[in-house]
Amino acid sequence: MRNFLIVGGGVAGASAGYFLAESGTVTLLEMEHAPGYHATGRSAALFSEYFGNPAVRALTTASRPFLTAPPPGFADGPLLTPRGVLTLCPVGAEKRFAEMLADGLEAPTPVREIDHDEAHRLCPIVRSGWYSRAMLKPGAMDIDVAALHQGFLGGIRTRGGQVITSARVRSLSRRDGLWRAETDAGEFTAPIVVNAAGAWADEVAGLAGVRPIGLRPLRRTAFLTDLPQSGAGGWPMVTDVADTFYFKPESGRLLVSPADATPMPPGDARPDDLDIAIGVERLQRATTLVIRSVRHAWAGLRSAVADDTPVVGEAPDAPGFVWLAALGGYGVQTAPAVGRIAAAAATRTPLDVAYDHLSPERTHLERPGTPMSRAAFLTERWK
Ligand SMILES: Cc1cc2nc3c(=O)[nH]c(=O)nc-3n(C[C@H](O)[C@H](O)[C@H](O)COP(=O)(O)OP(=O)(O)OC[C@H]3O[C@@H](n4cnc5c(N)ncnc54)[C@H](O)[C@@H]3O)c2cc1C
Repeated sequence: MRNFLIVGGGVAGASAGYFLAESGTVTLLEMEHAPGYHATGRSAALFSEYFGNPAVRALTTASRPFLTAPPPGFADGPLLTPRGVLTLCPVGAEKRFAEMLADGLEAPTPVREIDHDEAHRLCPIVRSGWYSRAMLKPGAMDIDVAALHQGFLGGIRTRGGQVITSARVRSLSRRDGLWRAETDAGEFTAPIVVNAAGAWADEVAGLAGVRPIGLRPLRRTAFLTDLPQSGAGGWPMVTDVADTFYFKPESGRLLVSPADATPMPPGDARPDDLDIAIGVERLQRATTLVIRSVRHAWAGLRSAVADDTPVVGEAPDAPGFVWLAALGGYGVQTAPAVGRIAAAAATRTPLDVAYDHLSPERTHLERPGTPMSRAAFLTERWK
């Protein structure tokens, strides 16, 4: 039986551990008292096959069968529930709108342009006059992030693995074909280590003497305010083509984000008052809503590399060191696919899809390659 160490207990590490537990014994090491404390517990919980570059969209689509029909006993309820996204075109942004519309027509559930009446029916607070055109992305869904994350972690335990919290990896070295991780909770060894340390992934690589991938953690802010009227819980997410804000109903409130992306060192991201004020201002400009109070605000780090495509695969400079990082704003919706790819890389098992374009090697080139096309990536055999 093979052993695997996973550094990081967010949704990425949990997913990789879940699939790896089919082939060996998994020990997942998480530095916080609870896995999901960082990016995973701070997301907007949306599944959107319209979002990101072709490689990201292909990973999202490849994740859909698992999210729609997870294995029996994985979760108590559905992981995906319909939400939809209403995307508005601020006056002057018509070129971007046309591009996004054309792009969205190729999605598994194509976008459709809707008139102002329909936009207002879907979300009565959008301000007429502020936008010229609108489209609906009907296939976008809410994800039950906690259920997905717990389902993966539960699967690791059920299959004989361990999830160890308060276990910060402080050093990583390789000797005689084994990785040795020294942590706050003791020492652990295995021939394979998966680096799923989120914003800290380059730091963890540094501990192991592995070449970094040039990860950039970017802070994103969100806050909750009151839902303005009854029935608002059924509104779609609303955003604009320039990606300057979004809002969506969430647990009986309205989740709002200024869609900020401020470079930060890895850490426990905190919301900045200015970003919250910008979010309030953008929301009030695009809608008739007057925000009287911000109930709760938070921030999280979305970590990406230059081509905004996940990095998954064995490090070219370190045998048995597998990257699972740079999941940007897509790490929840792509978790089943990237976890499965990381597991295949860790076990050196061929997959029925190519994933060379996700390899860490490209991040060391001067001009990173272009992600492969969606069509080349899609397969029915992901179930
Ligand atoms: C505001 C916001 C909205 C978002 N909305 C969406 C969305 O709608 N849909 C979507 O798909 N994605 C969304 N995302 C992105 C998504 O949250 C991330 O891509 C995803 O959670 C990344 O998962 P991860 O496991 O890589 O990282 P994390 O959840 O950050 O997990 C990494 C873990 O590694 C641990 N760690 C780090 N260093 C060490 C060490 N040395 N030893 C042990 N453990 C270590 C950390 O404690 C952490 O728990 C959003 C993100 C934010 C911030």
